[in-house]
Amino acid sequence: MSVSTTTASREQVLEEIVGAERFLLVTHEGPDGDAVGSLIAMRGALAELGKDVVMFLPASELPLPYEYAFLSLDGLVTELPGDLDERTLVFLDCGNLERNPIAGAESDGAHVLNIDHHHDNTRFGTVNHVDDAASCTAEIIWDIMGALGLRAQGDVADALYVGLVTDTGRFMYDNTGSRAHVMAAELIQAGVDTHDIYRHLYEGMPFAKLQLLARALDKAQCFDDGHLTLSWLSGADFAETGSVESYSEGVIDHLRAVEGTKVAALIRDRLGPGRGDERKVSLRATDDDVDVSRIARAQGGGGHRRAAGFTTRLGDAELVTFLRAAIARQLA
Ligand code: AMP
Ligand code: MN
Ligand code: MN
Repeated sequence: MSVSTTTASREQVLEEIVGAERFLLVTHEGPDGDAVGSLIAMRGALAELGKDVVMFLPASELPLPYEYAFLSLDGLVTELPGDLDERTLVFLDCGNLERNPIAGAESDGAHVLNIDHHHDNTRFGTVNHVDDAASCTAEIIWDIMGALGLRAQGDVADALYVGLVTDTGRFMYDNTGSRAHVMAAELIQAGVDTHDIYRHLYEGMPFAKLQLLARALDKAQCFDDGHLTLSWLSGADFAETGSVESYSEGVIDHLRAVEGTKVAALIRDRLGPGRGDERKVSLRATDDDVDVSRIARAQGGGGHRRAAGFTTRLGDAELVTFLRAAIARQLA
């Protein structure tokens, strides 16, 4: 996306925010740190402007993964409000409508602000503010807040920092530009206790999560001269270790770190009623030789060039064949 388009869409978003009174904020399914942080920060910013704002998460997403449990969910609803038609719907960190938790409700003429940083965002909103140069959606919200003359503090600053630190992989991924560090500096000046947040995010690991990681590491396999490093987590792995789905977060970073890896993949069974035959595939690339979002899109998913995912009903053998061929095609 060109800078000028982003500048224009930012102006539009600012107008929308100033002009409307009632908002409903939503994010993608299986909310990560950027999703939760963006919801909370945007809610705080709009509340400070005197707006009527509620955040929506389906009850099935609660409780939030333990990492984010320290964040306050004031203003959260788990049922869509009766006046939904009159609210501006704000989608945060949501690349497409398939991952949208209010399926259907956003159609029929709803007024949708789509604020996101996925380059493959399908631009499903009435106003689309998609800045793929932003490290995280929280960075876009921080930018919007600045333009509105709002200074992040307290819970809002914490929430923005959570989005920033998780989506940049603790400031290590290649989306970490100087703006990310400027934002961090400003948030620290505003009083964010980075060590405290770090402890919540990364040092409260349930033992079951460690055991789940051990299983994934035990089953890891390399294909094609090590270009693809892949592992699996079955429903039994989750059940026997006492893990919930979100405990698989972070496993893939270990696979990506293996020497020679171009693409790391984690294939895991979805849990829960009606999802028994669904599997989630997470993909990570180590450099620009392979764009994993292209591979994910071919299966109906999406994401970033170096971090993407999709949900599938393909079996093990088919999936491995598909991934190896898709990687080979891009490396050719
Ligand atoms: P994950 O592997 O779940 O951590 O996701 C990595 C990236 O891919 C994130 O930026 C997600 O937004 C994106 N992503 C994951 N699953 C999907 C999906 N089914 N559809 C679109 N994007 C996805
Ligand atoms: Mn996200
Ligand atoms: Mn994000």
